[in-house]
Amino acid sequence: MRHFPIFLDLRGRRVVLAGGGDAALAKLRLILKTEAQVTVFAENAAPEIVDWATEGKLRLVKRAFAPGDALCASLAYAASEDDAEDARVAALARADGALVNMVDNLDGSAFITPAIVDRDPVTVAIGTEGAAPVLARKIKADLEAALPPSLGLLARIGKGFRSAVEALPMGRKRRDFWQDYYFKAGPEALAKEGETGVRDALDNLLSDHLGKDARKGHVALVGAGPGDPELLTLKARKLLDEADVVIHDRLVAPEILELARREAVLVDVGKKGFGPSTRQEDIGALMVEHAQTGAQVVRLKSGDPGVYGRLDEELDVLDAHGIEWSIVPGITAANAAAAQLGQSLTKRGRNAAMRFLTGHDVNGFAEHDWRNLTKPGQVAAIYMGAKGARFIQGRMLMHGAAPDTPVTAVENASRADARIIESRLSTLPADIEAADPTGPVILMLGLAPRAAAAHLPALQEEFA
Ligand code: SAH
Repeated sequence: MRHFPIFLDLRGRRVVLAGGGDAALAKLRLILKTEAQVTVFAENAAPEIVDWATEGKLRLVKRAFAPGDALCASLAYAASEDDAEDARVAALARADGALVNMVDNLDGSAFITPAIVDRDPVTVAIGTEGAAPVLARKIKADLEAALPPSLGLLARIGKGFRSAVEALPMGRKRRDFWQDYYFKAGPEALAKEGETGVRDALDNLLSDHLGKDARKGHVALVGAGPGDPELLTLKARKLLDEADVVIHDRLVAPEILELARREAVLVDVGKKGFGPSTRQEDIGALMVEHAQTGAQVVRLKSGDPGVYGRLDEELDVLDAHGIEWSIVPGITAANAAAAQLGQSLTKRGRNAAMRFLTGHDVNGFAEHDWRNLTKPGQVAAIYMGAKGARFIQGRMLMHGAAPDTPVTAVENASRADARIIESRLSTLPADIEAADPTGPVILMLGLAPRAAAAHLPALQEEFA
């Protein structure tokens, strides 16, 4: 991030602008939203600028920008649409100590003006560091549509009510109150009875909330999906947005944790492969401890919480302490890996059933019904299998599997850095070792990437 976004208090501060054409107009429309003292220097100013000067919204000086014109100015805009003139103005303004913006000149500017969604006092600023104005415009249009025009009014009325709301204890109770106001009681009252209705609604809402019992603690065991934030369920997003505490595994992608409520406490209880981890008892204790204080806890697990997620142990602990819980399923790694390969998990004529296997369990490398797995056309998703590739290969071959049975390892399925490692049983351990994956890997036994599968002569496709 080269440009750091801040909100500058321009009340009563001096802002100067050189230029009188379209570029000057565009900037002035934004600057005039503020309470700054604006002075425009232009020999020829557009009629709107002259009108604004007449109305007292700005001061118009009908001459070229001169040394000293930016003295005591917080900001100076060089907006004359003439590169040489803008460079001259910028140098003078810099010498006067102002922060300078040169229109359409990123490198000459000490600050840039973002695209703005204005719901004063709620202001959204969108910047792309000059890289993608089209993107900024699209985001602005989306936000304009998403944020009701009444939002600013609700915020202004709400601001005057903040001290009254201090009657509610800090934290969850106060947040619940504001949540109700902005997203329910406020807009409803405004629609029905206008501004005075909103003030009455605030009074009523406050007495409602003062009378309410403390909200009960709750733990949601939520699937975060395989990594792509867009593969989160709407429910998962909503819970993350409301969470007081998020207890997450290492595999949960940072982009997903970004979606947690800003004030939420994030606790990483992750473990890496066979490495050390937070003990299961400690994870249980952590959930219980937070839920007992009334917190809304999200226990965030990668993929689906019910697939190799030790879900039942956590539910047992919660039940033992009488804590309410719910489960929100997620997209498991096998789904994402199959999609990455362009393959389905079951296919008419190939496999009517598929298996989820783990490469290792509490006793080390896991044993399975190898004999059945070696039958042609079988499909299995092997979680935590990369380290056990040699073991799996040995067991499968020992039970008579064809050495050219396709096995595809998918690393970081659904993520931007996803990698497909195409292999056969005969070369699996060597292929994985050569690929040297660093992210999570799932082995798709019996599946080749779609394009490669089309050329597979034997085995897979003869059953298709
Ligand atoms: N509950 C998770 C699985 C947890 S076990 C789920 O439903 O997906 C952890 C294993 O899941 C990893 O060792 C790896 O085999 C697999 N895994 C999880 N996310 C993955 C991803 N994005 N790509 C490939 N494998 C993944």
